[in-house]
Amino acid sequence: MKCYMCAKMGKDTDAVAICIVCGMGLCKDHSIREEVPIWEGGYPVRLKPDIDRIKRIVCQPCHEALKENL
Ligand SMILES: [Zn+2]
Ligand SMILES: [Zn+2]
Repeated sequence: MKCYMCAKMGKDTDAVAICIVCGMGLCKDHSIREEVPIWEGGYPVRLKPDIDRIKRIVCQPCHEALKENL
């Protein structure tokens, strides 16, 4: 998978992560790893170990949207 943000700028970069919100591929420059309280206040979320490592990676547009909604 290629980074969607890079592709929009005409670059061809392999994605290293996937935005948990919109699912777009992201390279390490465009992925934002942060405490994003998407699942707080809810029931336990069961995640497979392999996707648990990337559970808090979001893309820049989604990060902005999440901040605005906090
Ligand atoms: Zn990128
Ligand atoms: Zn996103």
